[in-house]
Amino acid sequence: MSDPREPRTVKCSFCGRDGSEVTSMVAGPDVYICDICIKTSIDILKNNITATPKKETYHSSLTPDLIKKSLDEYVIDQDLAKKILAVAVYNHYKRSNATNSLFEMDDVEIEKSNILLIGQTGVGKTLLAQTLARILDVPFAIADATTLTEAGYVGDDVETVLVRLLQAADYNLEKAQKGIVYIDEIDKIARKSESTSITRDVSGEGVQQALLKILEGTVAGVPPRGGRKHPEQSLINVNTKNILFVCGGAFDGVESIIASRINKNTIGFDTSISNSSETDRDNLIQKVQPEDLVKYGLIPELVGRLPIIAPLASLNSKAMKNILTEPKNAIIKQYQKLFMMEGVELSFDQNALEEIVKKAMERKTGARALRSIVEGILLDIMYELPTKENIDKCMVTRDTVTKGEKPVYIESDRKTA
Ligand code: ADP
Repeated sequence: MSDPREPRTVKCSFCGRDGSEVTSMVAGPDVYICDICIKTSIDILKNNITATPKKETYHSSLTPDLIKKSLDEYVIDQDLAKKILAVAVYNHYKRSNATNSLFEMDDVEIEKSNILLIGQTGVGKTLLAQTLARILDVPFAIADATTLTEAGYVGDDVETVLVRLLQAADYNLEKAQKGIVYIDEIDKIARKSESTSITRDVSGEGVQQALLKILEGTVAGVPPRGGRKHPEQSLINVNTKNILFVCGGAFDGVESIIASRINKNTIGFDTSISNSSETDRDNLIQKVQPEDLVKYGLIPELVGRLPIIAPLASLNSKAMKNILTEPKNAIIKQYQKLFMMEGVELSFDQNALEEIVKKAMERKTGARALRSIVEGILLDIMYELPTKENIDKCMVTRDTVTKGEKPVYIESDRKTA
């Protein structure tokens, strides 16, 4: 032990500074630490803590690449939209699963990014959203924006969208709150004029405002069995923070807005583009910017809540033919299964498929027309087949499609035309 009468120089055990050089010195058993070393130590610790999340990364077996490949099994073409969706969905679930407190330590809050699909009718917008939900195994609900109204008006409240999602989740609130909602025909609730004065379309804008709330994340009181709210009813509180909203619309005419923006300064450019081809339209749609959608009549706040825009191209004949036969649950495969249940092998020759595509292209409703055309062709066949015996094969030819002639039936013991 040192002599207490001797003047003692206390030195920091870390940096060697003595008491006179520092403001304060903390003593431990036979050790001292000065305030300068304490401060340095705190800084080092802080840096280590903030660096930790880099090591604790987010892992999901469903990478964007795998999501896209799964979409490929059901949806033909639309590669750009699939890629955008795959990344958006991956990020969405990464964000909503980031419950680790270390991720929440900093002030950076990752905002929800809902998705807008722009493309003509029947090109696969609903199918994409629906397939995504299937791949991710989350509940899915569809709503038509044109049937939605502001609270208090006749029609469906915006909250009914959430009722449907709850129903799809078997009333499992936790599951529903991670689901996907597809809102179709969002373009049809655009206000008619960009000017907000007398000409403004109040109803459209009101629905947009109501949608805005659930899109940005809110706790909405939802009547458990749907229908309209009434005061005595107990409501289920649905938090929409982690619900992914996918909106879709054709936005007919937006191509002119895009064209005139791009060519604002080009003298003599014709922005009417009424005679332009579908390819021209597709090319322009790929360049769509949020401001074009505002010009079209969506309120800026809603556009702001749909930061991911995925354009879908129109379908050419090749894509339409592939849609008939390629996807996992392709229309032709579905009918083949139906026929197989009666022991009959159904086939379509290439010419027949091309004629079906031709008819569908004329209707200008994308791939939507394919099913009803095939159904129409097979009606008579499905009518008479159960009464026919010994049929092994049924071959649909071009004449079956164009002239309504009978298909080629092949019987099990002998062949007839
Ligand atoms: P949209 O929502 O764009 O109007 P849908 O997704 O409802 O069109 O498509 C209507 C039907 O057409 C779907 O059920 C599907 O059978 C078929 N279809 C449309 N686009 C595609 C596609 N790209 N790949 C496969 N099938 C498609």
